[in-house]
Amino acid sequence: AKAAGRNNFVLFDPAMQTRVTLRAQLEADIRRALANQEFELHYQPLAGMRGQIAGVEALVRWRHPQRGLVSPAEFIPVAEETNMILPLGRWVLWEACRVLVRWAGDPATDALEISVNVSMVQFHRPDFCEQVLEVLAQTGARPERLRLELTESLLLNDVECTVAKMQRLRAVGVSFALDDFGTGYSSLSYLHRLPLSQLKVDRSFIWGALTEGHGAAIVRVIVALGKTLGMTVLAEGVETEAQLAFVTEEGCHFYQGYLLSKPLPEDQLTAFLCR
Ligand code: C2E
Ligand code: CA
Ligand code: CA
Ligand code: CA
Repeated sequence: AKAAGRNNFVLFDPAMQTRVTLRAQLEADIRRALANQEFELHYQPLAGMRGQIAGVEALVRWRHPQRGLVSPAEFIPVAEETNMILPLGRWVLWEACRVLVRWAGDPATDALEISVNVSMVQFHRPDFCEQVLEVLAQTGARPERLRLELTESLLLNDVECTVAKMQRLRAVGVSFALDDFGTGYSSLSYLHRLPLSQLKVDRSFIWGALTEGHGAAIVRVIVALGKTLGMTVLAEGVETEAQLAFVTEEGCHFYQGYLLSKPLPEDQLTAFLCR
């Protein structure tokens, strides 16, 4: 990198070869891991501003036989590049729907929702809606309890097609949240056309709010925008009482973060919900 900086060009990048090899290895590793059931879901509770649990976000983890628990930040990007996100994403959806079925009928869990992260690689597949409908039908999960989290990069694609897909799933009761709001390619001119029920304010803004000059103003604007468009607003990454007080003051409807709970494996989540 230093040499490149001096000469402004690179004839051969030995690191590139290593990266390509590593990616191919990781792809094969993900395929094997799916077959060996090394993936598991953890669940992070989401709450109303007085701490009433409203649901959970499903977050995938990889229990690697040698490396231990691997973060999705490490393997989701590779899974997206290699299309392994398609079988992995389908597995995540399936598991989340099965949890909904286990929760149904129990007064402690019956009303809870599950939020599932959907990669844009999955969403833009022509058969995305059929896949979701199929998993709902095969598991018997109630669509009203399923929320799909999308990112702003969906606005880069054909908006008509995006809206049509969302509406098709909305028609059976599935709802949508816009994840990490404010960090991507926001296009305010299209935002109002999307049938979203929730805006999730990225945690960088929640962190910045109490430390940076304009941080608080940015959160205020996002909350106002969400409310104007008829959405609920969820503050992500709330870690301190001061941050909770701030997002409550600003009018957020829900929050999520280590202050409430870290993502938990299912048995620990059950204990948390019964506390
Ligand atoms: P995300 O969707 O924004 O998920 C929230 C991330 O913030 C999670 O990281 C969560 O553990 C972390 N987090 C929650 N509260 C706090 C907090 O108070 N402080 C801090 N510092 N962090 C907090 P995680 O589980 O490592 O997931 C990282 C990202 O990987 C997710 O970001 C999401 O984009 C992606 N991801 C996770 N599971 C899936 C999945 O099943 N499918 C897809 N497509 N992506 C997933
Ligand atoms: Ca998310
Ligand atoms: Ca997020
Ligand atoms: Ca994020």
